[in-house]
Amino acid sequence: MKRVRYWSVKNARGLHWAYQGLEACLAVLHPIFMRLGYRRLDRGFAAVEKLLKGFLFDSQSCGQCTLSETGMACPMNCPKSLRNGPCGGVRANGNCEIEPDMVCVWVTSWQGSQRIGSPVSAIQVIQTPVDVRLKGSSAWLRAVRKRMGASEI
Ligand code: SF4
Repeated sequence: MKRVRYWSVKNARGLHWAYQGLEACLAVLHPIFMRLGYRRLDRGFAAVEKLLKGFLFDSQSCGQCTLSETGMACPMNCPKSLRNGPCGGVRANGNCEIEPDMVCVWVTSWQGSQRIGSPVSAIQVIQTPVDVRLKGSSAWLRAVRKRMGASEI
């Protein structure tokens, strides 16, 4: 829902902190996740993420979450699925050239990143192209594995 998505960007700072806290908590559980098996846990986590992130961010469950880098705005809501900044068609009022009723995802992303404050450079990180094979998998578990230096499953 667009209204909730815009609210999330308006409250990007708080949600970013909540995300950081969640990741830290999940990282503590890494040894347990290892024992249980990340593969086994993936479906359950992905279902929770779909509900929560779907509601708050209109997340498209790409499995490669960039919310912390993109001002708590999901770039997958861009009709062109651009993950590294806007196309050349942003309207003068900041709305999308393809969906005139929607603020360009990258306008909201920039606003959200300004609210988060630091590091501003996070939005400048070049995102890799979306890997469609990861769609529907848990981005949270992937982030924990990355943080803990564990290999992909
Ligand atoms: S205007 Fe923004 S949201 Fe619309 S297609 Fe271009 S980059 Fe994507």
